Amino acid sequence: MGEFDLIAKYFSNAGVKRTDTCVSVGDDGAVLQVRDGYDLVVTTDTMVANTHFFPDVDPRSLGHKLVAVNVSDLAAMGAEPTWLSLALTLPAIEEAWLAEFAAGLHETADYYNCQLVGGDTTRGPLSLTMIAKGQVPRGKAITRSGAKVGDYIYVTGTLGDAALGLKLVQGQHEISKKHQGHVLQRFHYPAARVALGQALRNTASSAMDISDGLAGDLPHILRRSGVGAYIDVNKLPMSQALRDSCEPALAIQLALSGGEDYELLFTVPENRRGSLDVLLSPYGVPVTCIGRITGLAGKLELKAGEQPFFYQHQGFQHF
Ligand code: ADP
Ligand code: MG
Repeated sequence: MGEFDLIAKYFSNAGVKRTDTCVSVGDDGAVLQVRDGYDLVVTTDTMVANTHFFPDVDPRSLGHKLVAVNVSDLAAMGAEPTWLSLALTLPAIEEAWLAEFAAGLHETADYYNCQLVGGDTTRGPLSLTMIAKGQVPRGKAITRSGAKVGDYIYVTGTLGDAALGLKLVQGQHEISKKHQGHVLQRFHYPAARVALGQALRNTASSAMDISDGLAGDLPHILRRSGVGAYIDVNKLPMSQALRDSCEPALAIQLALSGGEDYELLFTVPENRRGSLDVLLSPYGVPVTCIGRITGLAGKLELKAGEQPFFYQHQGFQHF
């Protein structure tokens, strides 16, 4: 099987066909119709073997995760995901692997109603790059730069589960049988908070998705917005699986620093806070207020109730 047979078999015709896709896989470029009155939002994420995933990971979950992490960035912007491109670098053509990877990718792309409209296929060390495109009503994208002093800080879902799933996969932590499924699901099959992100368009003053851990990611909002924040670690939302599997100190550490939860982190001005629970209740994902934006530019304070909480964040940086 050569490059073009591979593209034809696995990446040409599977998946949703959107009516706003004029030209898709097979031409020099894709031709896509952005809705009148909408802005195009574009994001890219790369996953490299041994850096982002174990080479022996289930290829189906890898296909899923590649789509989900890209779509999560669109969700954090308040955008509706629409199209994907895939730059695939493979050491060799292994059909069994490719079939599973493509199945996971298309399954998840379909779930988010995203069409794969192009890409590139090359030989080299295993590496996956995806570009996701979405649309948002003009001027309504939620950025990292809009947080204001006094805004309340929220997160969706629970934190630390994916990090615990990674520890389980690496054999670093024992977890009771009844909780293993949950943390593995969270690690291998993260959900992008797409509907909720769109619901926040007229409500959140800033937003981002948590890929590197709350304590590493919140400072991005603080820097871009020129503000500070405090977080009450007693308020961090944790799953029963995390609470039952870890001492409180480790649970807090995973909730603060564990990456790959892909929950949304967002800020809401006081005057839009009142009906937030009602507004967001249809989306089936709880949201939790964990702190507040302050005027101490760039400073993230951690508290446990009224007491200061000391913690050194160990985030991952590639360089
Ligand atoms: P070109 O040489 O013009 O860049 P290619 O020969 O690389 O085009 O690709 C042929 C077609 O297949 C293009 O439409 C491209 O977008 C698409 N394509 C290539 N690789 C992939 C992939 N992994 N997934 C989806 N589409 C792909
Ligand atoms: Mg060309």
